[in-house]
Amino acid sequence: MSAIAKSDAPSAAPGTDFIRQIVVGNLKSGKHRSVCTRFPPEPNGYLHIGHAKSICLNFGIAREFGGVCHLRFDDTNPVKEDVEYVESIQEDVRWLGFDWADKMFYASDYFDRLHAFAVELIEKGKAYVCHLTPEETRAYRGTLTEPGKNSPYRDRSVEENLRLFEQMRRGELDEGACVLRAKIDMASPNINMRDPAVYRIKKAQHHRTGDKWCIYPMYDFAHGLSDAIEGITHSICTLEFEDHRPLYDWFLDQLNVPCHPQQIEFARLNLTYTVLSKRKLLQLVRDGLVDGWDDPRMPTIAGYRRRGYTPESIRTFCDRIGVAKANSTVDVAMLEHSIREDLNKRAPRKMAVLKPLRLVIDNYPDGKVEELDAVNNPEDPAHGTRQVPFSKVLYIEQDDFRETPPPKYFRLSPGKEVRLRYAYFVTCRSVVKDPHTGDVTEVHCTYDPATRGGDAPDGRKVKSTLHWVSAQHAADAEVRLYDRLFGVEFPEREESFFTALNPNSLEVLQGCKLEPSLATAQPGDRFQFERQGYFCVDTKLSQPGAPVFNRIVGLKDTWARIEKRG
Ligand code: ATP
Ligand code: MG
Repeated sequence: MSAIAKSDAPSAAPGTDFIRQIVVGNLKSGKHRSVCTRFPPEPNGYLHIGHAKSICLNFGIAREFGGVCHLRFDDTNPVKEDVEYVESIQEDVRWLGFDWADKMFYASDYFDRLHAFAVELIEKGKAYVCHLTPEETRAYRGTLTEPGKNSPYRDRSVEENLRLFEQMRRGELDEGACVLRAKIDMASPNINMRDPAVYRIKKAQHHRTGDKWCIYPMYDFAHGLSDAIEGITHSICTLEFEDHRPLYDWFLDQLNVPCHPQQIEFARLNLTYTVLSKRKLLQLVRDGLVDGWDDPRMPTIAGYRRRGYTPESIRTFCDRIGVAKANSTVDVAMLEHSIREDLNKRAPRKMAVLKPLRLVIDNYPDGKVEELDAVNNPEDPAHGTRQVPFSKVLYIEQDDFRETPPPKYFRLSPGKEVRLRYAYFVTCRSVVKDPHTGDVTEVHCTYDPATRGGDAPDGRKVKSTLHWVSAQHAADAEVRLYDRLFGVEFPEREESFFTALNPNSLEVLQGCKLEPSLATAQPGDRFQFERQGYFCVDTKLSQPGAPVFNRIVGLKDTWARIEKRG
């Protein structure tokens, strides 16, 4: 079982992780005079929070050491790629707060040069065209414990290889008929070194190069050479490429390249209650289990943005989890903590009643309206106060009233007195019920005019303070309560991750009653609804004058309590 980093787990202070130490060492020793990194997404899906870790690392290092970070689309597989993804990736990197200046590239920009490198490899006797079928290739490859066997095509002459490779390029050979392979070592203990494929035939349209090519380079070949072409100093990738590093170095050693970047691997981000595989995220989108890549429950950057996360909170999270050499799983509560902490400092407070219950103050004058002062942010007096209208008929939260209160229930119940936030003390005198269902539809109270502002001059105390909204002034809105998409801690370990979906990950509430100022909230605005959590105006579903609110996160980690209860 992998380690789970809890929110209080120590992590390396930013700027001191092992990759930054390597960079510092290289600059000190004079190996490099400046730093050049790259973020190389494949445009086959939207970026997720794991990519954010890589973006913060690559762009962060470039920024800290006065270097540059390139954005390079690793678009060597024409079949799965799409411009929609290219555009979303740029938007997401920018939104996270990073900038590639004019350094945006595509691996496909290098197809001519990569082809020339392949020819150079053939000319050096280091690559051959192999006609083994995929099954034969597998059988010849050997296993982890047994060496492979040389392909019968391995000793073709340079001339023959050049001729065949040219035929591949011209489209004269069928897809799958043959591949170009590097000639390395079929007995290597590292299977990646057993004559890996360099180029394959794929008669597919490429989103940038059209049908110019019908052969496409393999990732391992294209990646290191693209790094070298761009003058990358540190090629930072995730741990699963550790075994590919000898191959990365081999290509650069064989070929006449402008420089030899250093590949450095770090542990990828895994998060509890979350899947971070693009393939699985695509499946959620395709099967309609979520409302697109930017569904507020998706762990994509677009999803977090729509949910209401700030770029700052994601960057802080990435700093906190640090960069390590061993795989682990981070508790998703750490991410939720980061957004809560950020918004606590800056989100304006508002009152919003999500599941309304009418409260009538029998001794409050009909038609009277008072404007009461409410604090905008108790964390920061500079945010000042605002006025909130108060009147005879209010809404309170259904949960804040119990006709028969359970033990330790301190909110409103018959005969009990509570404080209405910023307003008055009220005491429940009676209730009105639906004659059919028996449900309480209205609570009748009296108020104490001497408690205006929320305190009693005689010093008497109440145990509870409720939020409320004046009925005649309230703005009506839809509020969407989002929760974790998966109900189990390690959804990737489930046989079918679909069964691990949390059936209650979205609750849509209509007819919520909001403080009137919220009627004009703009898409993307964020608030704390007192006692409820942090909310953001949805950018997709809101209409002018009719905002739809997404719950970003509750005020407390309710899952921690559930887990403790077992
Ligand atoms: P997937 O396996 O889900 O398709 P990927 O790694 O193939 O993801 P890429 O588009 O190739 O996705 O990733 C771009 C960069 O982001 C790579 O350098 C990769 O190492 C890094 N990256 C991807 N996932 C994570 C993760 N979970 N944590 C950290 N870095 C990641
Ligand atoms: Mg990849």
